Amino acid sequence: MEKGFFEEVLATLENASRFLNLPEPIYQRLRRPRRSIIVSLPVMMDDGSVRFFTGYRVQYDFARGPAKGGFRYHPKVTLDEVTALAALMTWKCAVVNIPFGGAKGGVECDPTRMSRDEIKRLTRRYTYEIALMIGPEIDIPAPDMYTDEQVMAWMMDTYSMMKGYTVPGVVTGKPICIGGSLGRKTATSQGLVAVVCEALRFLKISMEGLTACIIGFGNVGKGCARILSDMGVRITGIADSKGAIYNPKGIDISAVSRHKKETGSVKGFGSAEDVDLDELIGKEVDVLIPAALEGQINSRNAHRVRARIIAEGANNPVTRDADEILKEKEVFIIPDILANAGGVVVSYFEWVQDLQGFFWSRDEIASRLNSIMKKAFKEVVDMSLDKGLDMRTSAMVVGVKRVADAISVRGLYP
Ligand code: GLU
Repeated sequence: MEKGFFEEVLATLENASRFLNLPEPIYQRLRRPRRSIIVSLPVMMDDGSVRFFTGYRVQYDFARGPAKGGFRYHPKVTLDEVTALAALMTWKCAVVNIPFGGAKGGVECDPTRMSRDEIKRLTRRYTYEIALMIGPEIDIPAPDMYTDEQVMAWMMDTYSMMKGYTVPGVVTGKPICIGGSLGRKTATSQGLVAVVCEALRFLKISMEGLTACIIGFGNVGKGCARILSDMGVRITGIADSKGAIYNPKGIDISAVSRHKKETGSVKGFGSAEDVDLDELIGKEVDVLIPAALEGQINSRNAHRVRARIIAEGANNPVTRDADEILKEKEVFIIPDILANAGGVVVSYFEWVQDLQGFFWSRDEIASRLNSIMKKAFKEVVDMSLDKGLDMRTSAMVVGVKRVADAISVRGLYP
């Protein structure tokens, strides 16, 4: 039986803390979220009925700065999941060394079965209910699964209406015309591709004839597919929540995007074979990018993996049990808190630009993102070589140490 998500995160924390020999009170502090809120949200549906949704926001840690993290709409959102994701955000911000703590939020709902107006009313009510807990100096939400820049615009507007003035820095991932940053939409994919390139260099794998498979065809998965295929990488497999496709000769990303837009899935795309997810996971490939929901590579299918590198676009896509199997197979893992940190890095740029009211060019953003990702990759690899740690533990050690140092130097209040 695989563990609960937060339990999984705590197991990784325990490894890192043991390695760092953290004092017990600091370790205990890191095992607990600072603040969690559960809100019930009455929303008027289009047919005039009122439905109640449950929403959450967990602020895991503030030691290094305001809490930061995405906000998702999904039927599987629970307090356990949001807490685990908030903890991951804490280590993620620390690994890439940006001055934030970690947070996450979500509402249990099925956004695919709701109208845009219903989502708008849900977003506004959720923002109102958590308004006391968020703000540019407290906690800054951002897009995550099934939340986009329009949802961020509604959040920013609701918060600003309550304040009586415009507060662009309360959320990131907004539309450009209200203080969003250039490059935010593609930031996670761009950051992921940057660390994949570093990993290839480190492992001395040539770009020539390189292949990649992508699980998840949302913002992150599609973005990675686009960037990699523009670089000449052959995308041989793609999966989404409804099915998977495979073509060893490569898949045309623009054509499959159009197909998904028309039919709702990559499935049934003419020039590739329909396969199931486990079959796709078992295909020989250089880089496998899980960029969908948590736990997609697990003890049930990990033994099938034939990839050389797994770059975790999603948060916690590989369970701890699967990790052990992959270790034996010597798969090089670029863990989530490093691989998908590009999104929050450009969120940080957006927040800085909002606070200053001074905006940067696309090139400035791309080059700053690239250098942060490269530096973080090097720090994690160096730690792993130096101390003989696997990449996941090493990334955790780098991140957790920064958070623990901040807690320790600030001391216990009162
Ligand atoms: N939702 C993204 C993540 O999981 C981005 C968070 C942010 O930009 O604050 O990293």
